[in-house]
Amino acid sequence: LKPAAAAYLEGLNAEQRRAVETTDGPVLVLAGAGTGKTRVLTTRIAHLIATARARPFDILAVTFTNKAAREMKARIGALVGPAGEGMPWLGTFHAIGTKILRRHAELVGLKSDFTILGTDDQIRLMKQVLADQNIDEKRWPARALGHAIDGWKNRGLGPEQVPPGESGAFAFGKGGALYTAYQARLATLNAVDFGDLLLLCLKLWRENPDVLENYQQRFRYILVDEYQDTNVAQYLWLRLLAQGHRNVACVGDDDQSIYGWRGAEVDNILRFEHDFPGAAVVRLERNYRSTGHILAAASGLIAKNEGRLGKTLRTEDEPGERVTISGAWDSEEEARLLAESIESLQAKKHPLSEIAVLVRISAQMREIEDRFVQLGLPYRVIGGPRFYERAEIRDALAYLRITANPADDLAFERIINTPKRGLGDATLQQLHGYARAERIPLLLAACRLVETDELKPRVRSTLRALVESFSRWARAVEKMPHSEVAQTILEESGYTEMWQKDRSADAAGRLENLKEFVRSMEEFPDLAGFLEHVALVMDASEAEGAERVSLMTLHAAKGLEFDTVFLPGWEDGLFPNQRALDESGRAGLEEERRLAHVGLTRARKRAKLSFAVNRRIHGLWSSTIPSRFIDELPEASVDVIEAPAHFSAGASRFDRNPQPFGSSYGTPGWQRAQANTNASNAAGGGRGFGSAPGGRAGARSGGPRQIEGELIAKSTGSA
Ligand code: ATP
Ligand code: MG
Repeated sequence: LKPAAAAYLEGLNAEQRRAVETTDGPVLVLAGAGTGKTRVLTTRIAHLIATARARPFDILAVTFTNKAAREMKARIGALVGPAGEGMPWLGTFHAIGTKILRRHAELVGLKSDFTILGTDDQIRLMKQVLADQNIDEKRWPARALGHAIDGWKNRGLGPEQVPPGESGAFAFGKGGALYTAYQARLATLNAVDFGDLLLLCLKLWRENPDVLENYQQRFRYILVDEYQDTNVAQYLWLRLLAQGHRNVACVGDDDQSIYGWRGAEVDNILRFEHDFPGAAVVRLERNYRSTGHILAAASGLIAKNEGRLGKTLRTEDEPGERVTISGAWDSEEEARLLAESIESLQAKKHPLSEIAVLVRISAQMREIEDRFVQLGLPYRVIGGPRFYERAEIRDALAYLRITANPADDLAFERIINTPKRGLGDATLQQLHGYARAERIPLLLAACRLVETDELKPRVRSTLRALVESFSRWARAVEKMPHSEVAQTILEESGYTEMWQKDRSADAAGRLENLKEFVRSMEEFPDLAGFLEHVALVMDASEAEGAERVSLMTLHAAKGLEFDTVFLPGWEDGLFPNQRALDESGRAGLEEERRLAHVGLTRARKRAKLSFAVNRRIHGLWSSTIPSRFIDELPEASVDVIEAPAHFSAGASRFDRNPQPFGSSYGTPGWQRAQANTNASNAAGGGRGFGSAPGGRAGARSGGPRQIEGELIAKSTGSA
């Protein structure tokens, strides 16, 4: 006698049901976007609990983001009702790793209240390690060491496991030793970094088989979402845990592997079948998310990749609207058209929460955000701070705020030692003491202190140079276009250089954001107007309310879905991104194409691509050509809405070689832009005025007294 299927199973197709009901033994669900992989995982958990195969705490489920974990918790709650017995262990690899490590901290030489260092602290610590070993940080930047160590950790390699050839790659063969020293420093601080959260679990389990066995017994069922983006350390972690009951279900899509640059390995999918022989492999082919045209466009595009496991996708949905492609004259017009399009959807009662804008790089967000703010369109940025809240933008803003208002103590504190110039906490305390006693702002206190002999000589001369710089910059604001002053400030202060020397993965993105920041200033008549605008934008971010457009990078959009998806910036060089092509060649291009595929498949009903024929790259205008990905979309599923008149269709859908506009992103224009930046750096700040960075001021700057006078005039004048 077979009981009627439980409600939660209703509506699943046969293959989905098989994936849910094959509870015992390893299961691999390999299927395309929108086929219900995540839904299968959620239903599987409900099924395990409802059929009493497992209690919630027997289950471990791994998601790719915290947001996904929260959503899955909510869905499970809805499926099984208020769970009396608690929830499964459900979270990202890092979150679960942390939970395990806290319980057994002593076994890996930590206390259970260990701290988890963020990137900044991690780098600070590496600087100390480099200094201890007398390694010149200018030559061997801490961030480069950080990058190497993160890479080893992603591959599950502890200091003693680094292959000899690689450990020699840093600082004349000291890589491995530095890694060891860094781990020792972490241990004395009772701290770990992100990579350790998994690596130390591996160590814990290797050295304490009884602990491992305990977890292997405990987790009767293990489930993993977005499996294609696991790195080696995560894979090893999973394989160890799953050896107990071997009831492990992984779902993934090789066509959505987009974190190769962070150590993810698609090969983990192939490894799975090898390490878990006899695994049931389920393929889901029906897409429940997108309409016909969107799916056809996405499938046509990804078919151009060679390295694929290959699969088919079909929908029983109607064809729906074609994917639209619109061209704009420049990125500003693109943002305007995009916002207008959103407003007209809004007028037709489409909820804003069902609209997403997905960009390739975060610097693209600035113009779009500005437009939203102007129109009063509520939006949220997912997976990262809003443009003006990014650390590098806040730093740049701090420099400008002091220039406009020398009494801005918060801004001064933020940048007095950023970039590092030897004005640390001790100096700041001295300044604070003095400023409090005299009831004056910090910058003025600095001005006066450098005239006394209370400061150490080196501190004194550095601080003097800084004060003089601010005075110079404040005067420049009155004479030069404010965006040029900003550019000069960033160069002369050494701030741009700090990121140029930085070899971490996000440094290039930060430099792009800084360029975009300077560029954005040109739209305002003066510095005060610009700062007011920024204050307004920052304030707008406080506004709450559920109905908001979502803005995020393509990377952050994984697993999500929206009725309408806007995909701006489809231009060669931007997308596919030139850096990915330069660094990884063909593999890079394929990863970019997967990213485009992820973007398109987020859309349920509408996908709207756009490109601009002119875009500023590294501060210089370049004409661009539409992304090669646009040409790869099947003609029958796209609609060209409006291409700028001067950009009429040629042999191809768009003339991909528009002579009148000269060079493109990928080729000379791009390089020229880069060469120019380098040249102006080499010239020591290019269009600088007054003295060179950090140098003693010449006669023009006058003595500190004069500077003080200027600063006071400035601060009272602008008050
Ligand atoms: P991605 O690869 O993008 O993460 P996915 O394979 O995880 O996609 P889901 O997010 O689980 O796909 O499902 C996509 C959409 O299809 C969801 O809205 C889901 O509720 C719906 N869906 C999945 N299976 C079915 C079904 N059998 N009947 C109706 N809707 C379904
Ligand atoms: Mg999913």
